[in-house]
Amino acid sequence: MNKIDLLIFDCDGVLIDSEPIAARTLAHAITHAGIAMTPRDVLVEFTGKSEPELRNILLERGLSAVDAVFAKWHVEIFAEFKRELRAMEGISDVLQGLDIAKCVASNSSVERLKMSLGLLDIWAHFAPNVFSAEMVAAPKPAPDLIELCLARMGASAARSILIDDSPAGIQAACAAGVKAIGFVAPDDPRAARRDILLAAGAQDVAVGTADLGRILHRHIAGHHEVRQPVEIEA
Ligand SMILES: [Mg+2]
Repeated sequence: MNKIDLLIFDCDGVLIDSEPIAARTLAHAITHAGIAMTPRDVLVEFTGKSEPELRNILLERGLSAVDAVFAKWHVEIFAEFKRELRAMEGISDVLQGLDIAKCVASNSSVERLKMSLGLLDIWAHFAPNVFSAEMVAAPKPAPDLIELCLARMGASAARSILIDDSPAGIQAACAAGVKAIGFVAPDDPRAARRDILLAAGAQDVAVGTADLGRILHRHIAGHHEVRQPVEIEA
């Protein structure tokens, strides 16, 4: 018998390969507005943050006309999503192979989720259970969004698993009492993602979707080892 009733997926960087597109278009928009950032800077500093958080950070750094900059960015990012967004390589097979309730918990806006995940076939695995930080008081790492998922899906924290590529998502799951699995895309250019996700509280970290499938099946069946605490070097 399964040990797990619900899988909660982060969207960007887990289900969809959107982060490079988001980083490139946001770097372009804010550099154009006078704050020079490369796509890599954006990826390292901003990935996993909600848009209200991004707006506050950029306001503090002196970005003026924030509304206009973000409006222009939305036009660009949604056009690029339409043009080149793909599901994360291999994720469709993983989803197909998991006969368990699934939902999405994303710090992205409802509009962005519809204009990204909503364009792809894998949307059908989740709709209408696609939950945005806009629906709760505080985005991940607060537990609010994960608690909303549990309530709407009628699942207990102890029998649910969250999969996320950002420490904020892992922390949100832990705060809600949900087991967290970290995900790292094989081509992620950021250093030490595995250690960062373990330090945030992930019980396991998958590198790539084939690894994710194996780890999830193991946890769902209850055959998993308790990991040793990880020492992170300063
Ligand atoms: Mg993510």
